[in-house]
This record gives sequence, C-alpha cells and structure tokens, in this order.
Amino acid sequence: MTREAPLETILKRMIAAEGPIRLDRYMSLCLSHPVHGYYNSGDPFGATGDFTTAPEISQVFGELIGVWCVHVWQTMASPIPLRLIELGPGRGTLMADLLRVASRLTGLDRNTIAVDLVETSPTLRQIQATRLDGHHVAWHENLHNVPLGPAIVVANEFFDALPVRQYVFRNGRWAECFVGLNERAQLAFGFAPAPPPPPAALPHERPPEGTIVECSEAQMAMAEAIGRRLAAEGGAALIIDYGHEGGYGDTLQALRQHRFVSPLDQPGRSDLTAHVNFAILRQALQRAGACTYGPISQAGYLKAMGLTERAERLKSSADAKQRSTIDSAIRRLAGHETPMDMGTLFKVLAACHPTLPIPHPFQ
Ligand code: SAH
Repeated sequence: MTREAPLETILKRMIAAEGPIRLDRYMSLCLSHPVHGYYNSGDPFGATGDFTTAPEISQVFGELIGVWCVHVWQTMASPIPLRLIELGPGRGTLMADLLRVASRLTGLDRNTIAVDLVETSPTLRQIQATRLDGHHVAWHENLHNVPLGPAIVVANEFFDALPVRQYVFRNGRWAECFVGLNERAQLAFGFAPAPPPPPAALPHERPPEGTIVECSEAQMAMAEAIGRRLAAEGGAALIIDYGHEGGYGDTLQALRQHRFVSPLDQPGRSDLTAHVNFAILRQALQRAGACTYGPISQAGYLKAMGLTERAERLKSSADAKQRSTIDSAIRRLAGHETPMDMGTLFKVLAACHPTLPIPHPFQ
C-alpha cells in the first residue's frame, strides 16, 4: 500500500475542521500548496515526468512563436526594449527557442530584449534560470508586477492549470462541486445547492438535466489583466491551450506518469487541468479593451507560420533516426490521428491593442 500523500493528510484535517472545500480551492492547493503542491515539488515535464508539452516535443514550436513575436513587434513600430512576457514558462524551453529566433531576426541582444517570467513555482524558476542563462530575465509572482510598457505576452498550457469551479444542473437548479469526506473518511466529490454559474459559462437555452458547466474565475481574472495591460500599454498576446469554444461537461483531469488517474488520488502528485473555455477568455480580453482573433487550431497556426518548411530545413542536416524523430514530433504537434495529437484539440487565440493590424495568420 502506498503511504498517504502528505497533502492528503492536510486536506482531510482541513475538511474535518472547516467542512467541504470548493473544487477550485482543492485544485489550487493540489497544484500550488507551498510545500506539497504539484508544481513546487519537482520537474513534471518530459518522458520521465507526468506530461509533455509542445515546446518539449520540438524546438520548432518555440521558434515559430518567435517568428510571430518578431512580426507583431514590427507592427508595433519596434519598441525598445522588446519586452517578452511569458506566463507559466515551465522549463523555459519555449522562451529559449523563441529568444534564439528573435535575436537572430532582430539583431537585438540581452540589453535590448527584456524577458519577464510570471511563475509561482520556486523549483521551476530555478530550472528556467539555468535554461535562460545569458539573457536578461526577471521573475514575477503576477502579471501586475511586470514593468509597464508595450510587450508581447505568451502563454502555452498556462490557463489549463488555473483552478476551475464546477456546477451541475439537477432538478431544475444548480449545485456546485465540493471536495469533502465520505463515510470512510476518504476524500470524495459532492454537490451542494449554489447560485447559478456566471452567465458567460452558461448554455444559451435552459440546460438539460445533468448538464455540467465549468468556470474559472482565475482564468477570467488573468485574461482581463492581459486585456487591460494590452489596451493601456500596447502590445499583443498569444494564448495556446487545449480546450473548446463554449462546450460543457466534466473536463477535470489528473495525469501522473502519462496516465490518467482520479483527481482525488494522491493530491499534489498528479497534474490537474481542465479544458479551457476560449469563448470566456475572448470575452474577458475584449471587456478589458483588447481586440481578439481566433481561436484557430494549433495545426492551422503552426502550418501557416511555416511548420513544414522549418521541419524540412532541420531534416536536411539530420541523419535517418533524427529525421524520423522530427517527423513524429510534427505529427504530434499538428496532427489529429491519435488522441495524443495536439493539432485540433489545442487552439491558439491572439489579442492585440486595438490599433494594431490583424496579426498573421489570423486574417
Ligand atoms: N508553458 C510551459 C509549462 C506549462 S505547465 C510549457 O508549455 O511547457 C504550467 C506552468 O504554469 C508551470 O510553469 C506552473 O508552475 C505555472 N503556474 C501554474 N499556476 C500559476 C500561477 N497561478 N501563476 C504563475 N504561474 C503558474
């Protein structure tokens, strides 16, 4: 028998004392508890970790985003410094690939490119520092702390890690999901009568019995903060994540060592995420004064940015084994044949200051 995860003991005590906790609080403690939170206790990425993100699959992903950033920066009249803000940079891989391309295309260096990373995990900050050694990097707890001025914001698989609330429509009324204790004193989901979810998350018609709706206040607040910053200071944002444009259902999932487990199993030891509702993000960005474009599929975005050409270039100087690795990486990033393929499940949303032209490839 595995020993109970330390966070499980803490949560059980907390619930015994205070009563059931809302799902978003549970998710937030599992991911970000200062000691036992998932992102604070190790390196979750890659083949030996729990999941693999696009930048870890191929350098081409970050490089193409680098090309996008430089294009947009030029439409902003090339302000110095070129300020790049990344939300939730993981291992720093995307930023490293992006910076290589950005400095080559612009001729700028560490004195003229400012990198601001919004990252809450001390463990990942250290990995990012090593990865981005030689660049001018600053770390922040929150977007509000990043120096003002025009900037380009990038967020890959960041929004899916922000805590969600979940509601169910039953017997003509709404109930909200809580984590409590069952009769055997084990963690269990339960629903308690609650006010309806925010209008943005609701179906247009009266929902059928049993409809599940998810909504993330943290996501909405973050999208609004990005929108306000773009509208006030100038710049653009690129948000890439897995999700839908206003769908419903239970999408909360937990991944440990590339396998799905119960979100209640060993809290703090698996990656908890939920599908991002792009319709809600778009509304929040617009409400704050930014113009939005998309979302378009990750496949569509990457191909329009030159995925195939870049892959061919890499293959031209590679051996047979490397060529086949490149091919499978490209299929994973832009294909949609297997459930692992990210091409259509993942989507790309852009937001800009209202005076900027529609960014490529969102026309
Ligand atoms: N963008 C990376 C990592 C995605 S994982 C990649 O594509 O590989 C999510 C990242 O967001 C991690 O770096 C995690 O520590 C960070 N994170 C999660 N919640 C956060 C929050 N509230 N504020 C800042 N960073 C957060």
